Amino acid sequence: QGFAELGITGGLLKAALDVGFETPKPIQEKAIPAMLQGRDVLGIAQTGSGKTAAFSLPILSQIIGLGTKRLPRTARALILCPTRELAVQIDEVVRSLAKHAHLATALVLGGVSRGSQVRRLAQGVDVLIATPGRLTDIVRSGELSLAETRWLVLDEADRMLDMGFINDVRRIARATHTDRQTALFSATMPKEIDQLAGSLLKEPLRVEI
Ligand code: AMP
Repeated sequence: QGFAELGITGGLLKAALDVGFETPKPIQEKAIPAMLQGRDVLGIAQTGSGKTAAFSLPILSQIIGLGTKRLPRTARALILCPTRELAVQIDEVVRSLAKHAHLATALVLGGVSRGSQVRRLAQGVDVLIATPGRLTDIVRSGELSLAETRWLVLDEADRMLDMGFINDVRRIARATHTDRQTALFSATMPKEIDQLAGSLLKEPLRVEI
């Protein structure tokens, strides 16, 4: 069983093989076909499980299928995560998987130049990877609209809770398109994350690794 059998094709499949992803990990086997069918996913998984490719591959596949029509100051997909380090890692994975597709990605995080991040968003992006604080700031100032964002990933949701980002996360999620696909990943399931999942996910496939 390879990624092709899970529904990953063309340049995306080639890119996955290029980075050495040949045999899908358990979380990928479960999440990829479900997300390709449009289902929401609740993943209870640690770092190292392969969750990044589990949500990136099906989202990239769906976006590639739509063609490259981007609206200014919008993001088609948003991946929210707690730290700069994680955001940079996710960005690397997404860019390496998207290398044969003509997709625009962007990174929004605190501690680095805001101006260059905003300039990158001006023409619109396909995939935005962001931490909640800086993203909230950029959305508030009107430099980015999430109204057309139809894919939302909350990665390491329990850490975003621990770091005090939960209200930002709720507000950001509410600003995205109501007709969206949502995936939430968390290593643990404290009550607040369970409630967040309950309010944001529609009949999710629950994957526990
Ligand atoms: P993650 O949990 O997404 O941070 O991934 C953990 C590690 O597993 C990363 O170093 C990935 O490059 C690697 N990885 C993810 N999926 C696969 C796969 N299907 N085959 C081999 N390595 C993988």
